[in-house]
Amino acid sequence: MPEGNEIHRFAERHAAALAGKRLHVDSPNGGFPDASLLNGRTLKLVEAYGKHLGYVFGKDLIVHVHLGMYGDFWEGKMPLPPEKGALRLRMWTRTDWVELRGATDCSIFDSEKWAALLARLGADPLREDADPEPAFATIRKRKTAIGLLLMDQRIFAGIGNIFRAELLYRARISPMRPGQEVSLAELRSIWKDACKLMPAAMEDRRIVTTRPKDRPHSRGTVPSETVSDEEVHYVYRRHNKPCLVCGATIKRQEMGGRTVYWCPECQKA
Ligand SMILES: [Zn+2]
Repeated sequence: MPEGNEIHRFAERHAAALAGKRLHVDSPNGGFPDASLLNGRTLKLVEAYGKHLGYVFGKDLIVHVHLGMYGDFWEGKMPLPPEKGALRLRMWTRTDWVELRGATDCSIFDSEKWAALLARLGADPLREDADPEPAFATIRKRKTAIGLLLMDQRIFAGIGNIFRAELLYRARISPMRPGQEVSLAELRSIWKDACKLMPAAMEDRRIVTTRPKDRPHSRGTVPSETVSDEEVHYVYRRHNKPCLVCGATIKRQEMGGRTVYWCPECQKA
C-alpha cells in the first residue's frame, strides 16, 4: 500500500499536469459514475492528507481518492493510451493524462464530507500545517502497542507499514512497547525523524531509512538511488537476516493485520 510520501507525490505531479485546466473526465469501466459531472470543468487544486487525495473542482465537487492496497495511478503525455484493465477514472488535457485503477474509493465529496474526513485524520508529517501535539497526548494515554498506534491514521496520517517499522527501529523502540511507556522526548524524535524521512522518500520515489555508516557497502554519503535494495531498510522485510547494526536476527510478527519487523536486540521490549 502506498504510504504518505507516494500520495503527496501524486498530488504534486497531478497538480502540475492538470490544475488550472479544463479537463476531460470519464470512467471507462463505469466504476466512477459521477465522472460526467466533472467533464469540461476546471481542476482547481489537488490536496493530499495522509493517504487521501482530494481533486478540488469546486467547493462541493471534490473527488476523493483512497488507493488502498490495490489502487494505482498511471500518467503520461497525450495521446491517451488504449483503454485497458479496470480503468475507473481518466482525466486529461491537450497535453497530459492521468489514469486510476482499482482504488478503495473514488467518489465525490462535498465540502462538509471532506472536512469531516480531515477532522478524523491525525497529524501528517508531510503537511506544513501539521500539529503533532494531540497525537503525542493520545499515545501517552494508551496501553496499546506503539506499533499499532503509529499506523492508526486517526493519530498520524500517512505512516504505513514501512515507516512504522523503520521509525521504531531508528528510535530503538520495540513495536510492542505500550504507548504510555514511550516518553514525550521519544515521540518528538520519532516525529522529527518522520518529517525528515518522508519528504526525502517523496523526492527519491523510494523509502531509504538506513544511514550510510550502517550499510555494509557504504562508501560514505551516496545518493539514495545507488543504495542496493538489500540495504535500504533496517528491519522492513529483513526477517531472518542479521541486523545491520548488531547482527541479531530480525524478527517479524502479525500486528493489526499487517506484519511488523524489528530487531530484538536494538529494540528490546
Ligand atoms: Zn540490532
